[in-house]
This record gives sequence, C-alpha cells and structure tokens, in this order.
Amino acid sequence: MPVYIVFLGPPGAGKGTQASLLAQRMGLPHVATGDILRDAVSRGTELGLRAKGYMDRGELVPNELVVNIVIERLSQPDAGTGAVLDGFPRSMGQAVALEKALAERGAAVNLAIYIEVSEPELVKRLSGRWECRSCGAVYHEVTNPPRAAEVCDRCGSGLSQRSDDRPETVRRRLQVYLEQTAPLLDYYVGKGILAKVDGERPIDDVTAGIAAVVAAKGFGTR
Ligand code: ADP
Ligand code: AMP
Repeated sequence: MPVYIVFLGPPGAGKGTQASLLAQRMGLPHVATGDILRDAVSRGTELGLRAKGYMDRGELVPNELVVNIVIERLSQPDAGTGAVLDGFPRSMGQAVALEKALAERGAAVNLAIYIEVSEPELVKRLSGRWECRSCGAVYHEVTNPPRAAEVCDRCGSGLSQRSDDRPETVRRRLQVYLEQTAPLLDYYVGKGILAKVDGERPIDDVTAGIAAVVAAKGFGTR
C-alpha cells in the first residue's frame, strides 16, 4: 500500500526542511504546493499568473487552482508508493478533497505530522530564510547558513529571500494559518493519525523526533 504523510504547522515551522529530509529517507517524492506555485509564478504560466496576487498578499490560492494539481501530481509514476505532502492540505476543503482522491485508489493519509513552534520563533525563522529557486534547498542566515553567503551548498545557484517573508505578509499568513489550516489538527486527531513534534529545537533534533514518530508507525526508511 502507498504511504501518504502530511506535514502541518504554521509558516516557518520547518515543514519544508523536514519534509524534504523525510522524503529522501523514505524514497518518496516531496510534494510542496508552495514550491509548485512559486515555480509557476517564475515561469509565468497561466497558473502562476492567477496565483501570484494571492501569494503576494499571504492569502490561500483558491482550491480550483491547487487541488487538481496535487491530485495530478500524486498520480505520477514516482508517487506510486506514496508521497510526503508539505503545505497541502491547508483547509478543510482541501483535506476532504485529498481524502476523496486517495479513497478512490483505496488509500488514505497515514500520518499527519504537526510541527509546533511559537510565534516569536516563526517570525525570526521567516525573516532569516533564504532559498534556492533551482533545487528548493532552504537555509537560514543564523541557524542553518549556507557554506558561502547566498550560494546554494547543494547545486551552486544563487539564493534569494521570499517576497512573502516580509513582516506585513508574514502577519497575514499566520492569521490565515490560524483561521483556515489550524482546524485540520482536530480533523486528523479525530482520525487518530496526528503526531505532534516539538519544532522549537535544532533542526537535527526535530529530524530525530520525526524519525521516531515514523518508526513507531512502522514505516520503513533507508
Ligand atoms: P516552512 O516550510 O514550515 O515554512 P521552512 O522549512 O522553510 O519552514 O523553515 C523556515 C526557516 O527556518 C528556514 O530559514 C529554515 O532554515 C529555518 N529552520 C527550519 N527548522 C529550523 C529549526 N528547527 N531551528 C531553527 N531554524 C529552523
Ligand atoms: P508555502 O511555501 O507553503 O509557505 O506557501 C506559500 C504560499 O503559496 C501561501 O502563502 C499560499 O499563498 C500559497 N499556497 C501554498 N500551498 C497552498 C495550498 N495548499 N492552498 C492554497 N494556497 C497555497
């Protein structure tokens, strides 16, 4: 049976950092809707043109733009054994759409990992975040710096800061998270698959906490 793991948590909690590591260890694709949307914006596709305004304001992009993209991505051959989802679902409507699409394949979300981090720490993390637009690697200028300033360790491309990591947009993103995404925590508690991880520790410690949760569920890593 395929394995589907969902990462939940506010913006800046470390979902991308940890989902990418876990996906690698499990041999599953890392499906991050934020990355897919930013790629569409930078390529100027129809999706990107329609999504950009919402992203710049820190709002959720409408479901009709996001849901089918994820479902289509999950039907690609490399997702045949499952996927690690990061940034999706982000609302009850998306969670229900995902559940329905997976049920059609006789599958379901197996584990929802909630990375818990306090608001002051989130603001620090987002204001120091740098990312590589070529390979998706994420850095922090204080807690996780690249070896050379503004250059990606993994692929050598230049790093940039996200325009939606500006303080006023961050405030809106946190509000949107509380209103629309936080209710998913109870939804997955109700399904008996939510695991909470203390995200306010160094990256390696959070990785170890997640590895313990995944091992307790009996999912293999390599
Ligand atoms: P999200 O995907 O949840 O928005 P990211 O994985 O992009 O979060 O992480 C946000 C920022 O915080 C990045 O700059 C990242 O390097 C940094 N970061 C991630 N996890 C930790 C951690 N445990 N401690 C300190 N900084 C972290
Ligand atoms: P992220 O990279 O996860 O922080 O997402 C960046 C932005 O992309 C968000 O603020 C939203 O505007 C948009 N986005 C990402 N994932 C979703 C989603 N599942 N639903 C709606 N909008 C999304």
